[in-house]
Amino acid sequence: MKEDKILLSPPHMGGNELKYIQRAFDSNQISQYGSNIDEFENKLESYLGENSFVTAVSSGTAAIHLALRLLNVEQGDFVICQSFTFVATANPILYLKAIPVFVDSEYTTWNLCPNAVEDAIKYCLKKGKKPKAIIAVSLYGMPFMVDEIMEISRKYEIPVVEDSAEALGSKYKNRYCGTFGDLSIISFNGNKIITTSGGGILISRKASDKKNTLFLSTQAKDDKDYYSHSELGYNYRMGNISAGIGLGQMDVLEKRIEKRRENHDFYHKIIDRVKSINLFSEYDENFYSNYWLNTILITENDRFSAKKLKQKFSENHIETRYLWKPMHLQPLYKNYSFFGTGFCGTIFDSGLCLPSGTNLSEDEQWRITEVLNSEIN
Ligand SMILES: *Cc1c(COP(=O)(O)O)cnc(C)c1O
Repeated sequence: MKEDKILLSPPHMGGNELKYIQRAFDSNQISQYGSNIDEFENKLESYLGENSFVTAVSSGTAAIHLALRLLNVEQGDFVICQSFTFVATANPILYLKAIPVFVDSEYTTWNLCPNAVEDAIKYCLKKGKKPKAIIAVSLYGMPFMVDEIMEISRKYEIPVVEDSAEALGSKYKNRYCGTFGDLSIISFNGNKIITTSGGGILISRKASDKKNTLFLSTQAKDDKDYYSHSELGYNYRMGNISAGIGLGQMDVLEKRIEKRRENHDFYHKIIDRVKSINLFSEYDENFYSNYWLNTILITENDRFSAKKLKQKFSENHIETRYLWKPMHLQPLYKNYSFFGTGFCGTIFDSGLCLPSGTNLSEDEQWRITEVLNSEIN
């Protein structure tokens, strides 16, 4: 019998999604307006807490693009950006013909290194231009060093765009990711902790920013009774059907976070015995990760490496993935500046993401354990 493939992080429906979609059909709200969108935004606003104004858009990438537009990022501007991330974090900088300045990760959260951020800011100031934004990522669900980064943001008066695409439900000092940046984003792509099949939100601290986000994401129509456009807009609004899926997923969000954290405990139990593998975990009690993906670092030796382990998993129909390859090492971005020691390149070389889906069964955990045991012991 051929075993089913164990996937890294597949979608996991909660059961109510079709109910909300049916409601959209019943009221013929099939396009980019309707009660699902309004309710989805309201639910997220009350989940994230006060001072969170949520606009639902077509993707997390679109939300980052809009965030940079709201901050008036233009051609030739500097934008400081975490290098260790998915390419969607950085691409909107190039959409606007601005210049990314990449920054290394630190050891505890794998996110922006505060010292390297300051070096990058000083470099930009020397070039005669203060960066327009700092993009801080909470990668794999782990919050970045929020206090340190926000202090730098205040000191130099540079706004933070928080890319918490992977971090819905994660917390720093008991506050949710998505509430730290001057503007924050979360993604609902199919592989994230909950999904709208494809979608994202932009979270702002001010109602006026939400109004502007709505304006820009719906083609920037002027307030006239005919089609008048003074600014460049986008067709970035979330659809009412997608928002229906999102509402069904919000019903089970707490369960999903709980299960991801259980997956982490499972990996802890099997990996803690192994000297050559380190499971990436919360540094201290200030950090609360949704553990969107569980990641390991492997100390290479003559019979063991990330590549070999990946191969072994693959032979057993288990999907694993390499960590995000840092942006400053990507052909697309190789000509841009990078600040730091190169730590994020090192973890890319020795890391793997392990299956972390919320539908991961006990049977499947067994299959994973067997591969790890056979390789390690
Ligand atoms: C998924 C992701 C995005 C982009 O979100 P989409 O909804 O896929 O456009 C941005 N940043 C990070 C870190 C992501 O993981």
